[in-house]
Amino acid sequence: MIAGGRHGTLGRVELSSVVAAESFVEPKSRYLADLMGRGVQGTADAVVLPSTVDEVAAVMRWCYEHEVPLTARGGGTGLAGGAIPVSGGVVIGFERLNKVRQFDPLLWRIHVEAGVTTGDVQRLARENGLRFPPDPGAAEISQIGGNIACNAGGPHAFKYGVTGHWVTGIEAVIPPGEIVRVGGPLRKDVAGYDLKSLLVGSEGTLGLVTAAWLRLVPAPELELPVIGLYRDADAGVSAIERVLASGVVPAAIEYLDAVTLRFAGDAYPFDLPDDAAFMIITEADGAASEARRVANELQEALAEDAVAVHAPDQPSDVADLWRWRAGAAFAILAQRGGAYSEDIAVPLDRLRDVARETLEIGERHNVVALSFGHAGDGNIHSTFLFSPDDHDEEQRADAACHDLFELALRLGGTVSGEHGVGWLKRGQLEHQLGPAGYDLHTRIKRTFDPKNLLNPGKKR
Ligand SMILES: Cc1cc2nc3c(=O)[nH]c(=O)nc-3n(C[C@H](O)[C@H](O)[C@H](O)COP(=O)(O)OP(=O)(O)OC[C@H]3O[C@@H](n4cnc5c(N)ncnc54)[C@H](O)[C@@H]3O)c2cc1C
Repeated sequence: MIAGGRHGTLGRVELSSVVAAESFVEPKSRYLADLMGRGVQGTADAVVLPSTVDEVAAVMRWCYEHEVPLTARGGGTGLAGGAIPVSGGVVIGFERLNKVRQFDPLLWRIHVEAGVTTGDVQRLARENGLRFPPDPGAAEISQIGGNIACNAGGPHAFKYGVTGHWVTGIEAVIPPGEIVRVGGPLRKDVAGYDLKSLLVGSEGTLGLVTAAWLRLVPAPELELPVIGLYRDADAGVSAIERVLASGVVPAAIEYLDAVTLRFAGDAYPFDLPDDAAFMIITEADGAASEARRVANELQEALAEDAVAVHAPDQPSDVADLWRWRAGAAFAILAQRGGAYSEDIAVPLDRLRDVARETLEIGERHNVVALSFGHAGDGNIHSTFLFSPDDHDEEQRADAACHDLFELALRLGGTVSGEHGVGWLKRGQLEHQLGPAGYDLHTRIKRTFDPKNLLNPGKKR
């Protein structure tokens, strides 16, 4: 499989001397692109799917010795093109490294290999009265290793935090092929530098995550969404500010703007008044009495200036609501066939500016613009639409994204609140961190990966 590729002179025979022959797959297209990678297609000399940590280490040792790039791949659901092998070399997939090594429900913890899907961890937790709170939208395909590598969030990150918050230990293979274990089934560990947190969110550029200890929590007894609908974004953002000022802690605070509602509203499982131009979804959770108390307070905070407030309380309605929310991205994509959907995050007091300026950026570049996202975290999916057949429109949508990144930095925010920098946002990090910060970032990369072979070209 190596033969014929950019590093072809080394021959498949050499790599297959360190991993079992059945661990190779042909470099099929599904390992060379990702779900939303804007059509970017990488190349690979070999695709390897190891089933043991020792095999992962052997592959890395081989790549390091022969100076061959190595790109980690989880479920390929990343939204920044991080798993695309843009420098050729070897793609290492984790789908066969998918064992649950230990599950201690009574101690609220689980030890899983990197290739276990997010959905499987969530299900296993749920079946045992527990919850794994990170809920990125493609949970049935994304893997725990990918969630850790991107430090993925989701709607409920507002109350529960992002993936890193739930990782207490990581096993990883780092260059030139060493297995390291940091943390473990521990709730506290301050002994060394926080290497675990360095690996979390490192997008496959510092090490390959092979397994993790995850923290779980008892599942809430009741989940009660409360939805507020408003005539415009100003009234909606004021309602979000009232929710925060009320002092209650919702599990989620999401929003969808007028254009998003226009595209996704038809499938909304409840009544959507004609004059609704901004939606806020909050959720109260916890013990039944506590969830009801919080839901009442949320209703009060959301009611002022609202066109309508409603609070579904049947479990099937709650599931329908979140299914619809998760599907909104696809309804948006369907409008013109292409959408650049970013994930900037800004301080909460700048939410109003982002909602407004996203539309202004769209107007400036003559593309349809909209925004929705995790309002409580100031993490916004500003989105610009294009038709894949219209190259000029696609270029304008791309230019709009660049204006958006500038906006995020001008407002004191970040170019990425959850998807990472990957390949698609390359070049943005230096603007955000400044020269000294970026130099420190680069030196950390060099310390882990002196030959720059791990996912080269990404997170920069
Ligand atoms: C419909 C949809 C909704 C989404 N919603 C959300 C959301 O709400 N919140 C959110 O944060 N994200 C969301 N995402 C993005 C994506 O699902 C997450 O970033 C997810 O964590 C990626 O996991 P993956 O296994 O698919 O990783 P991949 O896409 O395969 O890889 C992502 C990055 O991680 C690296 N990587 C993968 N596995 C490993 C490993 N074992 N060791 C080291 N590096 C590795 C890759 O090299 C790459 O840089 C969504 C995506 C889709 C398609």
